[in-house]
Amino acid sequence: MGFSTFFYLRNMESYASALLYAIPFFVALVLFEILYGHFVKNQKHNVMDTVSSLSSGLTNIIKDSLGLALVLVSYPFLVENLAIFQIEATWAVWLIAFIAIDFAGYWNHRLSHHVNIFWNQHVIHHSSEEFNLACALRQSISNVIGYFPILLIPAAVLGVPHKVIAILAPIHLFAQFWYHTQHIGKMGWLEYIIVTPSQHRVHHAINPEYIDKNLGQILCIWDRWFGTFQEEMDEVPPQYGVLKPAATWNPILINFQHLWRLCQDAWRTRSWWNRFRIWFMPTGWRPADVIERYPISKIEDVYNFSKYKPEASLGLKGYSIFQLLCNTGLLLFMFYNYSEIRFNNLLFFGAFVFLGIYGYTSLMDRKQHAVWIEVFRGVAGILLILWTGDWFGINAYYDLGIYPVALYFVITILGGIYFTYFEEGYATPNLAS
Ligand SMILES: [Zn+2]
Ligand SMILES: [Zn+2]
Repeated sequence: MGFSTFFYLRNMESYASALLYAIPFFVALVLFEILYGHFVKNQKHNVMDTVSSLSSGLTNIIKDSLGLALVLVSYPFLVENLAIFQIEATWAVWLIAFIAIDFAGYWNHRLSHHVNIFWNQHVIHHSSEEFNLACALRQSISNVIGYFPILLIPAAVLGVPHKVIAILAPIHLFAQFWYHTQHIGKMGWLEYIIVTPSQHRVHHAINPEYIDKNLGQILCIWDRWFGTFQEEMDEVPPQYGVLKPAATWNPILINFQHLWRLCQDAWRTRSWWNRFRIWFMPTGWRPADVIERYPISKIEDVYNFSKYKPEASLGLKGYSIFQLLCNTGLLLFMFYNYSEIRFNNLLFFGAFVFLGIYGYTSLMDRKQHAVWIEVFRGVAGILLILWTGDWFGINAYYDLGIYPVALYFVITILGGIYFTYFEEGYATPNLAS
């Protein structure tokens, strides 16, 4: 699934207000899936993985709502210059636009899976070793070049108005959420038309039979036509994740792991040709001389590998949920107050939540340096409150608003110290399966 589809096509402020509704809606559905799994005794969530997935969703919407990307070409520009037809806004336009978006989405997704440099922006979505609704929200922050509208050239030539694309794109995007679940089986004749949970389980699987298959977003006809379709088979239970495991709960790190490995390989290889072509080679390709000197282990037996699971007490799990909720709350306030906060301050606010996510997920990873981040951001938050006597305008809504925020930062400092120094097992990730 590529959430970047519509990010180049919309208006920042309306995006911020849409998120005010979308976030609680997604969270409610994730909670529903967790409760359902609990009651039917088939739980597909684990606390740390789900916190990590939802945190990744937060990083994605911060980055997108601040518009931190270089848009190569915009859709309105394309329509203005390429349209040879003029179609009226009838039902046919909506249908054509939808098919055009889905077709572009298929190829964008296929590109992401097959080319080294593009894989970096998509790997976060596949990095969970679980498969559930939360995993759908693992979305990229490393998609910084906006090239997607180029794939919409067919729609532009047909003269599909920008307004239609701008309305359909978010619908097309959110419609990719529901099928990230293991609780729905095959769906009869629908399997021939749309992407279903069964098909998308195959997509997230690393079994050799399944890998890089079912790249469609809403319609599965593209996979059937272009030879990338694979049905889920009873005798091949999907195993989820990526072949080079992320081995961290920190979504910000996961977004740049693959790029970092490419940079290292480009630096280390002895050949200039390799240095140039590594970016455009198939995903996972490495120069032969580097493989020899710097081997990277890959999962060979998909039925027998240890999932990432550093030791976590009940206290740390609860604390991680608390941190996730507080950071989500801060962010909802930012979107609620979006038009009142000046852009520089929005960047600053976004950076605060980003740092927060970096900090508490490092704590979840049992990294010893996490304590420094937690103490730093806690102190910075308190100083900011003392200095401005406010928290980005919260006083205007609620007289005592700064007190819970200040308390949160105090807890962050204490939590960082406690879980680093007073709990057993820090900095010793214990890989239990
Ligand atoms: Zn997916
Ligand atoms: Zn994918």
